[in-house]
Amino acid sequence: MKKFWRCFVCNDIHYGVNPPEICPTCMAKNAYVEISSAEAQKISGMTKGDFNKQKFHEAIEKFTENNEFQVNPDKERVTMLLDGIFNNEKNHGLKYCPCRLIMKDFEEDLKLVCPCNFLIHETYKDKGECWCGLFVRREKI
Ligand code: SF4
Repeated sequence: MKKFWRCFVCNDIHYGVNPPEICPTCMAKNAYVEISSAEAQKISGMTKGDFNKQKFHEAIEKFTENNEFQVNPDKERVTMLLDGIFNNEKNHGLKYCPCRLIMKDFEEDLKLVCPCNFLIHETYKDKGECWCGLFVRREKI
């Protein structure tokens, strides 16, 4: 079962079955301690707002490099979706998917943080798009 872990040196948060042996942020060895999801939520809230829309857009463009999908070239649609994602961050704490409802169950809702694992969804397999159309299969274009 996956749990939350916090590096006691730099507060890096890891979500997984086991913590990394070496913290990827500060390189401390054996530095992770298990924490509650509430604590992880609070700590992740500390960085809320660090990522503006432009930076997030650049990050998802980079994320698609060398992948079979890309950010939708429909700029108007992307702007609308990014607005929804950032409104969710403002109102609910994290960059949740703009077209799905959060359940108020932190661990479950983590599956709805954008980008989600849309490659496994039927919508992507059938239509070549994530649920909201933020990402589209390259061959579709
Ligand atoms: S469906 Fe698309 S927009 Fe929604 S979280 Fe997944 S990747 Fe982001």
